[in-house]
Amino acid sequence: MSDGKGRVELIERFPGFFRATEEGFGLSDLGIWTGPGWDGVIGQCLTTLAGLGLPDDFRLVQIKEKFGELRIYHNGRTGEHDHAVEDAIAQATEASVHTCERCGMAGIRMAEHGWWRTLCASCLQRSSEA
Ligand SMILES: [Zn+2]
Repeated sequence: MSDGKGRVELIERFPGFFRATEEGFGLSDLGIWTGPGWDGVIGQCLTTLAGLGLPDDFRLVQIKEKFGELRIYHNGRTGEHDHAVEDAIAQATEASVHTCERCGMAGIRMAEHGWWRTLCASCLQRSSEA
């Protein structure tokens, strides 16, 4: 399903967001816990964040899927850009619930056996065959 290349590529494209902080952790330690289908959504969000001119100590601390939605957590060092950062992340979360988390095609958020996932029809079918 994931060959891991997307997340390495994302981390390499935006190294400043992922460098270890003085608190001793960074996203590179925690990982990107989503399917590869959201790499485009995450990349767009990080491009927006990179354009804001955030303080040097701004870091992303976790990127993960929760209840079928993309969640992006940061360390709060947004300078004066609090609203812009929250807007960019909210847009990415909104986009994620319409994007298949496995392949990046248009998807639908659904609950199955108590697990929320966002999948397209063919990935859903593939996962129910497995
Ligand atoms: Zn799919």
